[in-house]
Amino acid sequence: MNTSDLLQKALKLEFLSMEEGMHLHYHANTAELMYTAHEIRKIKKAGTNDIVTWQIDRNVNTTNVCVANCKFCNFFVPPTEKFAHKAYITDDATYKAKAEETFALGGEQFLLQGGHHPELGVEFYEETFSKLKSWFPELRLHALGPPEIVHISGLSGLSYRQTLERLMAAGMDSMPGAGAEILDDRVRRIISNGKCSGEEWLEVMRVAHQLGLTTSATMMFGHIETIEERFDHLLRIRAVQAQRPEGANGFKAFIPWPYQDDGTLLNRVKGVRNTVTADEYVRTIAISRIMLPNIENIQASWLTVGPKVAQVCLHGGANDLGSIMIEENVVSAAGAPFRLSAEDIQQVIIEAGYTPRLRTQMYEFRPTPKALEGKILA
Ligand code: SF4
Repeated sequence: MNTSDLLQKALKLEFLSMEEGMHLHYHANTAELMYTAHEIRKIKKAGTNDIVTWQIDRNVNTTNVCVANCKFCNFFVPPTEKFAHKAYITDDATYKAKAEETFALGGEQFLLQGGHHPELGVEFYEETFSKLKSWFPELRLHALGPPEIVHISGLSGLSYRQTLERLMAAGMDSMPGAGAEILDDRVRRIISNGKCSGEEWLEVMRVAHQLGLTTSATMMFGHIETIEERFDHLLRIRAVQAQRPEGANGFKAFIPWPYQDDGTLLNRVKGVRNTVTADEYVRTIAISRIMLPNIENIQASWLTVGPKVAQVCLHGGANDLGSIMIEENVVSAAGAPFRLSAEDIQQVIIEAGYTPRLRTQMYEFRPTPKALEGKILA
């Protein structure tokens, strides 16, 4: 196998095999990976290559009660007497205040997620989405994730299709690729044993794409997975994307981010640290762009790696910096220390040599919201 031949193959947007991807992982240098990924980005984002997109939304949690017990999660509380004083289900007044604040800051979307509550079935989420849409018809709901869909459909005795159809009818606009971690079940059994299997995660996404629901995909890496398991993850996501119906967005974006270890059970009990260096993150962004030529957008996770590393990624395959996240309670609970304002994120993009453009969840450019008039820097 020859590195240069494989990079040429990647530039033609051909699918590289697991062995070919792993060859690049072990033998290609960072500069050639970044160059190739950047060239692929130019093809995939033709006409908008001087632009890097960003978004304003707010992570709002429906509940922190969860039975999944993921060992990397400091956010949840189990549904037991001992933790009852810390458990919550978000109430109407809180939703209203958070939505009003989101609009006042120029946002238009809730990233609406929560724990696997043992008593909240599909009716609860239908009611929540319907209420939010009736109060704020403009509010976009980027909601739940495959593990929650598996959990809710199990509680409610419905198929994934029936569950998603009901939630979409109630106001779900799109679904994040949450809870993918690493899709291999050896890894999942160790780090998130109470969550759905890798195949269940993929099947929910297949059904979502058949229903025309736009989604994204993620990879949380740098913990106990092998390099082969990372590539298996990428290939399984690519295969589901290839099966999406004609005209469907499927996975609109791919977002890899390193495991955050601060205070997690995985770190405290098993001693598993975040092993991802800045160089490895930049290489992973480039490899993601190379291995996923059927996904249009690759997002660098400034929240977990910081703005400086994210800037480098914009020259190695990434074309998007994601959201400034007015509120985020899950990743930051495990140590992610970075925060950016609307002005900051635009400055980060400009410093990296690009024009920032505010976008929607569908990656369309958003007109400047009133709240940001005078604050758009380019
Ligand atoms: S990551 Fe999600 S599913 Fe896992 S324990 Fe935390 S809240 Fe529950």
